[in-house]
Amino acid sequence: MSQESTQTGTDRAKGSTDRRSFLAGLAAVSGTAAASQGAQAAGWGRWGRGTRTNVIMMIPDGSSRAHDTAARYLRAYRDDPDAYPENIPDVELAVDRADANGYMSHFPADPNSMVTDSAAAGTAIATGAKTYNGAISVDTDREPLPTILERAGEAGYATGLVSTTQLTHATPASFAAHVEDRGMQEEIARQFVDETDVDVFLGGDRSHFRADDRDDGEDLIGRAEEQNYAYVETASELESVSEGKVLGLFSQSGHLDYYLDRANDADNTQPGLRQMTERAIDLLETRSDEGFFLLVEGGRIDHASHGNDPATVPEQLEFDRALDAAMEYARDGPRRSETLTVSASDHDTGDLGLDYGANVAAIDDLEASQGTLTSAIDAASSTSKIASVLESQAGIDDLTDDELAALEEDPSALTGADGILNDRAGLVWGSGSHTGEDVPIYAAGEHAEQFTGSIDNTDLFEVFAGVLDLDGSRRPGRSTGRGRARGRDRGR
Ligand SMILES: [Zn+2]
Repeated sequence: MSQESTQTGTDRAKGSTDRRSFLAGLAAVSGTAAASQGAQAAGWGRWGRGTRTNVIMMIPDGSSRAHDTAARYLRAYRDDPDAYPENIPDVELAVDRADANGYMSHFPADPNSMVTDSAAAGTAIATGAKTYNGAISVDTDREPLPTILERAGEAGYATGLVSTTQLTHATPASFAAHVEDRGMQEEIARQFVDETDVDVFLGGDRSHFRADDRDDGEDLIGRAEEQNYAYVETASELESVSEGKVLGLFSQSGHLDYYLDRANDADNTQPGLRQMTERAIDLLETRSDEGFFLLVEGGRIDHASHGNDPATVPEQLEFDRALDAAMEYARDGPRRSETLTVSASDHDTGDLGLDYGANVAAIDDLEASQGTLTSAIDAASSTSKIASVLESQAGIDDLTDDELAALEEDPSALTGADGILNDRAGLVWGSGSHTGEDVPIYAAGEHAEQFTGSIDNTDLFEVFAGVLDLDGSRRPGRSTGRGRARGRDRGR
């Protein structure tokens, strides 16, 4: 497959030579370019219709049905504590307003586990192929698999990657990088800048891009600016960008802060997930006449749930506000534009349960993640200072002498499934890691009905490819019933 034939299949003006040659290699794996050419020659699909098609994939990493339910209870309590819980049926989260919903399985192709990590799960959604835990869009033989984002970009769509984690973390990486181990974050950053043409990058961790911090001393931020990316580091800088390509890295190292820590920090400069989602949509809308593919990850639900931190509930609520923006765009976006918004967790984390003791008032009182609270307790020099930290930042004013003594001895008495925070919040946790049960999937807008019933994570790739007409076939007209995609040779 030559570079030329790849370009013949697309008519998009933008794009670098590096990217084209890289994608030509991928196309050779998948037959993409030939399929695109065939589509144009036959006059099928969306070419020439003058209508843009957009797909927004939202991933609340580690979320489950229990996370949604807890978020709904918290929303109801915040709306009117006096009317709670009778007002719970009045609450409509974005997930409650979905046009369709179903359940999704997510097991990996891994001899060591039936439970997926975010790398194998992201790869399954992005490429339609099961792989081993830790793999970033490579197959079980370590060969690269073309992703839905890359194929969309190759066909002329604008593309975006947004996450509250490190930009190079497993889930966003799975859509635009190919490495055999998710820990290769410097290489993932290099591939983002040198080998993709993603229009909008918004996430955390500058260190993997900065010459001063990288092992190889490469200045990836400078290289991105040479490719006409606007480089931004704060929420207000992000607001000031009105068009063009953007690389936004909003933390020096590590992930963006938890929602609670951002919301209660007067000096916070990081954007929220809803703001990033809205800005990405605004910017992508102007980038291509074809439309766009956007991946948005609420990545810190997973992290809070690994720690059995009740802060996962407000984190889920923030994700739902971002999903609300993406679903409203799917329903009421600009004319001559069709949008499909899908939200699916990649796996559950924490096995969260709500039993008789669940107390959303205690969750509503939280003004910090358990990590921030633990640091503050660690820094407190007396039991009275510890009591004052927990009263002011967690609304806990009834600590017993035994609890105070335990906290003074070891601040981690606050945290975990059996810690003081969960004692007050009444949340039940069955795990500190990922679990294997199906996760909910929600969809709104064009072709939302495809996401009804029981599906597998590898089915998303095929539906997105159909909606975006990447294989030159007609748009999907059948339901995505379990097994529809089974037994078919997908050429990879
Ligand atoms: Zn995780």
